[in-house]
Amino acid sequence: MNNTIKIPGLEDVIITKVEEFEDRIAIFVEMEVQTHICPKCGKKTRKIHDYRVQKIKHLKWFERLSYIFYRKRRYRCDTCGKRFYEKNSIVDRYQRFSKEWNRAVNIRSVRAKTFKEISQQFGASPSTIIRRFDELAEKELKDVKELPRVISIDEYKGDTKEGKYQVIIANGETKEPIDILP
Ligand SMILES: [Zn+2]
Repeated sequence: MNNTIKIPGLEDVIITKVEEFEDRIAIFVEMEVQTHICPKCGKKTRKIHDYRVQKIKHLKWFERLSYIFYRKRRYRCDTCGKRFYEKNSIVDRYQRFSKEWNRAVNIRSVRAKTFKEISQQFGASPSTIIRRFDELAEKELKDVKELPRVISIDEYKGDTKEGKYQVIIANGETKEPIDILP
């Protein structure tokens, strides 16, 4: 695997190894060593403290689920002794799914027919997908000032806290969601 290849969500990382299995792909990555600013005292440091490997669920590759094994680096500040994790572009703190995975799920969850369909596609439980969908809905569905020319109404089947079925109202031309109702 050549790391000049652009892989969604992994543009900024060094891919050290890719292992293929029958049903999944493991991608081993790390970030480049960079000068970091100590979050405690503000001094610069490049001193590496240690590494920890974090397993992250990523997008499907060629119909196989992929996992990122991210060798996460910790730096140490020489001035105050603070240890901290490096900045990275692949995963947010305390997340088991990559940022790219989240983006893709967000897009698909608005367009796919059922949460079950997306959950199979992305290798996650329907409840995880529904939670993402709820978060997205809260963030994206701001007050609508003007209604679009075409409105499309569709139903969703998913056991959210609002009930078994939801109604999605979207702009029929751009497919952007306007509202989701119980
Ligand atoms: Zn410091």
